[in-house]
Amino acid sequence: MRFTAYLLPLSLLSGLSALAQTPKLRTENVVLITLDGMRWQEVFGGADSTLFRQSKHYYADPKTLQKDFGQGPPEQRRQTLMPFLWGTVAKQGQLYGNRPAGSLVNVTNTMRFSYPGYNEILTGAADDARIKSNDPLDNPNKSVLEVLNQQPAFKGKVAAFGSWEAYPYILNEKRSGLPVNAGQRLATGPGLTPGEQLLNQLEVASPSPFGEERLDAFTYSYALEHLKKNKPRVLYIGFGDTDDWAHGGEYGAYLHAAQYTDQFIRQLWEYLQSDPQYRGKTTLLLTTDHGRGVAGTQWQTHGREVVGADQIWFAALGPDTPAIGPATTGQLYQNQVAATLAALLGQDYAPTPATGKPVGAVLGHVTTTAKAK
Ligand SMILES: [Zn+2]
Repeated sequence: MRFTAYLLPLSLLSGLSALAQTPKLRTENVVLITLDGMRWQEVFGGADSTLFRQSKHYYADPKTLQKDFGQGPPEQRRQTLMPFLWGTVAKQGQLYGNRPAGSLVNVTNTMRFSYPGYNEILTGAADDARIKSNDPLDNPNKSVLEVLNQQPAFKGKVAAFGSWEAYPYILNEKRSGLPVNAGQRLATGPGLTPGEQLLNQLEVASPSPFGEERLDAFTYSYALEHLKKNKPRVLYIGFGDTDDWAHGGEYGAYLHAAQYTDQFIRQLWEYLQSDPQYRGKTTLLLTTDHGRGVAGTQWQTHGREVVGADQIWFAALGPDTPAIGPATTGQLYQNQVAATLAALLGQDYAPTPATGKPVGAVLGHVTTTAKAK
């Protein structure tokens, strides 16, 4: 993959400057969504029938899993698993990371677990020297969300929702002032919607199987309420169920999580297309924080020593993103997501020399290497 060279000098002070020489894009809003630890193997190949017996307590009947997820060739099974991704994003947008077909996406951090992955996605660069655990430490690096929120055009119009309780630290809410609703947090403030009041009641009364990390149904529903009420221009949603169920060795629940998260994303997209602020002016970016292993029970885990855990995927759907579908060649990196998000909003995000460059094809700079399948 080649990248379009931006001719403007970098604004190293703010890390952000307008891309005045780039043709005006139609994107005015961006929604970034991550599915924690969702493997490219299932994204592109659908359910793996050989793992159906690796479910313990949830959706543990191999015959039912075979009926619900294991029918037909990989092209059919991936459509069953993630019907919005394959029926809409792959047809109207771009999808990267199908390694057997020749499209590669990798993390550049060497940790291959969540905090380093979200740091790389959201700040645009790996930081192996400082971000090397999942401990709740305030991130010394500024995220693209924080930098955008400092711009007058985006001030107060950026929000983050996540299932994992570490997001307030990853996004350094103390410094950034970003609104972050994550973990067991409730909706707060005046003017709670009936939906938010109900969610607050349900979350308190629904102990999470993952401890401090809540189920994605809450994260999604809080985020959708916020979207309808506050109309942010930049929204980040970090889903976590896929990773938690995989760590638990619950392959059936992992598959169900992928499927219902895909449905959340469809509902969100349909809302965006029904609203005048968002319709035809909003780009959706989808990715994951890390891959997982392959052989035996290695699909359950990830980390520095796990072969394949650096392998991820990335997708984009929006008015400036040509419908080239699943890529069959090229190499992308996790550190390109932040600059791509900013570039869609007409901003050049390059706070350090290590910051990844925007994915040109997402911005309509289709190269000869990104061709349709
Ligand atoms: Zn994990």
